[in-house]
Amino acid sequence: LDKLTTAQRSRNMARVRGKNTLPEMLVRSAAHKLGLRFRLHDKRLKGSPDLVFAKHKVALFVHGCFWHQHPGCKKASLPTTKTEFWHTKLARNVERDREAIRQLRADGWRVDVIWECETKAAEAIEKRLKQILRHRSRRSQHSRIAA
Ligand SMILES: [Zn+2]
Repeated sequence: LDKLTTAQRSRNMARVRGKNTLPEMLVRSAAHKLGLRFRLHDKRLKGSPDLVFAKHKVALFVHGCFWHQHPGCKKASLPTTKTEFWHTKLARNVERDREAIRQLRADGWRVDVIWECETKAAEAIEKRLKQILRHRSRRSQHSRIAA
């Protein structure tokens, strides 16, 4: 990250921040492959979760490791220049994410995050999706019957 020029970095930033990022496309394609139905960026829900599995009452975010500060991830380390600026900016993102998750859970949603660094292999993404959705149905008889 430190070797990137400012121009490269802002380009990366725009990509990471925006909707329809590569990690998000990979997760969507894995979900399609599993035959799952979902809505995209549902603005009626706090934080507009990237994928919403309404039947399972699961809201899923696909987060860039840097932009959303993946804990303990080396992709999340702060640039060595303008460190204070980035710290403030990213702390705000993290706070916003936390608030969205809190609100969604209060409204009865199960919330999960797939991080950018977890989207390298299609099989791994499919496994995560199965885990996320199975977890819900184990806890709710209704979902198990519906699934
Ligand atoms: Zn990460």
